[in-house]
Amino acid sequence: MQRFLKFYLAVIVVIVMIVGYMFISIDKIKDEVQKNVEKIFISQAKSLAYNIERSVKKSFPDGISKALGEYDKRKQLEENLELFITPLFQYVYVLYRDNKGNYRYFVDGSREEEKGEFDQKFDVERTKWDEAYESGTDLIFRQNLETVWVTLLHPIVYNGRTEAVVAVDFSMQLPKEVAETIEPFKTLFVYIFVAIALFVFIVLIQIYTNIRIRKESYLDPLTGAYNRNFLRDFLNKKDLNSYVILMIDIDHFKRINDGYGHKVGDFVLQETVRILKRSLRENDIIIRFGGEEFLIFLKNEKGKKEEVLHIVQRLHSSIEQHHFIYDTFDLKITVSIGINLHPSHFKTPNEAIKHADKLLYVAKRSGRNKIVGDIDKADRSKQSEPAKKSVYETKEALEDGRIECFYQPIFDVTTGKIVKYEALVRMRDKEGTIITPYFFLQDIMHTNLYNEITRFVVREVFATIARTSQSISINLNFSDILDENLYRIIIEEIEKNKDLTDKLTIELLEYELLENYTQVVKNIEKIRSYGVKIALDDFGSGYSNYAIFKEINIDIVKIDGTIIKDIDTSEVLFDIAKSIVVLAESLEIAIVAEFVHSQSIYDKVKELNIRYAQGFYLGKPDRMK
Ligand code: GH3
Ligand code: MG
Ligand code: MG
Repeated sequence: MQRFLKFYLAVIVVIVMIVGYMFISIDKIKDEVQKNVEKIFISQAKSLAYNIERSVKKSFPDGISKALGEYDKRKQLEENLELFITPLFQYVYVLYRDNKGNYRYFVDGSREEEKGEFDQKFDVERTKWDEAYESGTDLIFRQNLETVWVTLLHPIVYNGRTEAVVAVDFSMQLPKEVAETIEPFKTLFVYIFVAIALFVFIVLIQIYTNIRIRKESYLDPLTGAYNRNFLRDFLNKKDLNSYVILMIDIDHFKRINDGYGHKVGDFVLQETVRILKRSLRENDIIIRFGGEEFLIFLKNEKGKKEEVLHIVQRLHSSIEQHHFIYDTFDLKITVSIGINLHPSHFKTPNEAIKHADKLLYVAKRSGRNKIVGDIDKADRSKQSEPAKKSVYETKEALEDGRIECFYQPIFDVTTGKIVKYEALVRMRDKEGTIITPYFFLQDIMHTNLYNEITRFVVREVFATIARTSQSISINLNFSDILDENLYRIIIEEIEKNKDLTDKLTIELLEYELLENYTQVVKNIEKIRSYGVKIALDDFGSGYSNYAIFKEINIDIVKIDGTIIKDIDTSEVLFDIAKSIVVLAESLEIAIVAEFVHSQSIYDKVKELNIRYAQGFYLGKPDRMK
C-alpha cells in the first residue's frame, strides 16, 4: 500500500511538473514558432528577389539607367514579374533613383489595380532605401501598420554601382497566426492542471480519511491502546518470532469498580495504559485484549531473555508504585503477568497467546501480583509433551467414545484396603495414546463441549458405582458449580441416580478464586442434600483460603501433592501437613494425602495420622476391572 502510494505520488508530481513547464514555456514556444516561420518567409523573399535580379540583368545587361526608354522590354519584364506574385508575396516591384534622388517605378509586379505606372514617383522610407542603395546589400525593415509588414530591399548592382532596388513586401500576419494556433494549448494546460490538482486533492482526502478511519478502528476508544481489530490484522501481517508475548491483568479490578465506581475504573485503565506506554519502547505493541487485560508484544530481536525480563520487572513495579489519583482518591493497584518467551514454539500465534494467558492464570492462582514465565518448561514441552488437542479433535473423541474414565484407588492407611476411587478423565487419541486433561480440557473451558464431557463423566461414574458398588469421586471446579448450565446438568444426573449418591464425592478445585459465597453455598448444599460428599482438592497449594471452612460444609480435605511429595525431606512441609491435619481433625473432616509416591512418604503419612492416601506408590490410575 505505502509503496504503491509513493509511486502514485511520484507519477503525479512528474505530470504536474511537465504540465507546469509546458505552461510556462508556451509563450517562448510561440515566439520561437513565429521567428522560425518569419525566417522561412524572409529566405523565400530573398530567393524571390534574387531571381528577379537575374531576370532584370538578363533583360537589361547594360544597366538600368540606359534602358529607361525601352518601354516594350520593360513591359515584358513586368509581365514576367507578375508570375512571381503569390498570396504571400503580393507586392513585388523594382524602383530606380533619379537625379534628384526620388524613387520611381522601373517595373511593378503588383496586381493591376494597385500597380504603379512606369517612372511614377513613389514615396518610400527614404533613409532605408538610400542605405540599401549605397551599401549594395540586402536590407530588411518592418512597418507597424494594422499588421506588421516586412519589406526586403535587394539592390541590383552593375559594376559596383547600384542602379535599382528590388522590393518585396509581405505581411507578418500569417506567422503570427501560425504561432497563435498554439495559444489554446495554454488554456488546455490550465484545465489539465486544475483537473490534476482536483484529482490529487480528492485522492489525498480519501487517503487521509481512510487512514483515519483505519486508525480509529484499530484503537480502543477508552484507553487509546490497540484493540482486537488491530490484533487480527497484526497477526495476519507479522509473525511473532521476534516478539515476547505478555498477558497482563489488573488484580481485583472489580473491587475498584465496586468500591469507587466505573468512572474511577475507567480512569485506572487509562492511566495503566499510559504507564505501559511510558515503560515500553516504540516497537512494543499494547493491545487491550479484554476488560482489564492487556496483551503486549515486546520486541525481542536479539533473543535476550534477561533484557526482556528486566523490562517486564520494571513495568510491573512502576505500576505497583504508581499513585492513581482521582479526585480525593489515591489508589494503588497491582497486576499479574504471564510471559510467553517462546512464541516460536507454538504452531499458531493464537496458541502462543493462549499460552501467555495460561501463565497469567498461573500467576493469578499463585496469589496475584506476580510475573510468571516458563523459560525451561517451554523448552521441555517442545520436545516431549504431546501436542494439545484442538476443540474439534476433542469433540470427535467424545462422539467416538474415546473419552474415558480412569480410576485411581484411595487406601485406608489403617487397614491397607482400598476404600474408594478417584475418577480421572482421559482421552484416547486415534493412535491409542492415553492423554491427560491438561491437553484437551483447558481450551474448552466454559464451552458446551466441556459441559458435555462433564455430563459424560458423571454418568460414567454412576454407571461404575452401580456396577462395582465402589465409592468414587469426581473432579470439578468451583466455577463449574456456579455455571448455570453445568450445575443443572449435574443436578439432572444426580436426580437420575438418587440411590447411588451416597457413594459419590465431588472434589472441588480453585476455591482461592471465590469471592461471593452465597451462590456457591446454595448450590453445594443442594448437592449435599442428596448425600453427595464434598471434598476440597489440592488444599494447601499456593494461597489457600482457610475462610472457606467457615462458609462451606466440607466432608473431606485432600492435602495438595506439592506438600505431600516432599514431607519426608522437608520439615516445614511436614509441619504444614501437620497443621492441616490438626485443623481437619478439629473440624471432623476426613483427610486424604495425594501424591504418595514412595514408602518413606507413606510412612510419614502414617506418622501424621492421615487416614486416607493415594499415589503411584499405592496404585496408578487405570481402567476399572
Ligand atoms: P482478577 O484479579 O482475578 O483479575 O480479578 P478482577 O476483578 O480484576 O477480574 P474480573 O475479570 O473478575 O473483573 C474484571 C472487571 O472489569 C469486570 C468488568 O465489569 C470490569 N470491566 C471490564 N471492562 C471495563 C471498562 O471498560 N471499564 C470499567 N470501569 N470496568 C471494566
Ligand atoms: Mg483482573
Ligand atoms: Mg480478568
